[in-house]
Amino acid sequence: MASETSAGLKVLHGLLQQLAEAEAGLADGPRRIAVADRQVAAGEQQSEQQKQAIRDAKRSADEANLRLRSKEAEILKLEGQLNTASTNKEYDIIKGQIVNAKKDRGDIEEAGLLGLEAVDEAQRRLKDLEVELQKRRQQAQAAKSDYEAMKPRLQAGIEALLLQISEAEKVIPGSELAMWKRLRGAHGAAAVSCLEDDFCSACSTRVTAQDMVRIRTGVFVVCRGCGRALYEG
Ligand SMILES: [Zn+2]
Repeated sequence: MASETSAGLKVLHGLLQQLAEAEAGLADGPRRIAVADRQVAAGEQQSEQQKQAIRDAKRSADEANLRLRSKEAEILKLEGQLNTASTNKEYDIIKGQIVNAKKDRGDIEEAGLLGLEAVDEAQRRLKDLEVELQKRRQQAQAAKSDYEAMKPRLQAGIEALLLQISEAEKVIPGSELAMWKRLRGAHGAAAVSCLEDDFCSACSTRVTAQDMVRIRTGVFVVCRGCGRALYEG
């Protein structure tokens, strides 16, 4: 039969574990929100980069269009010169220049088409990114409203546990209270350790026969290995 002190420490241990869980639950909301917010920021950045990619692709397409118009003007001019050629040699030279200019025009047209396709592709990709971003914004909003909805309940649970813990801490002798506060501050629920046979379950130090007698007679005893408050479960 465990002593009253052991029984009290066991209750205290259980309450401290519940408190740790409740506090972890409360901390989980802001953590989820932070993760969701980072996802939104990353999505916004991707969207911005994609908008820049679209502007770049459009500029390339516009440049190809300008080159095409100037090449066409060049061809027209050469065709005009062809009519005014005064020698056969001059005629042949201009004819050759026209052939070359028309070949260039074909290349520019091709580049222009590829450029337009690149613009389309970049716009499709932006649309996908915007859909994904919208989804991420909704997730972030849901994380925030879930947390806001749960917070009062979690906080109330923590308040109730803290009251129960103050009550349960009456098992600790007044002379040990300052030491206990430090221990609890450092280890939380792990400030208390249940004995397994006559070993401390936290650090596996064997409890001396003398300490076992003290524990069984209800003396508040801390582990000589790790300093935790010991109890018989
Ligand atoms: Zn120990």
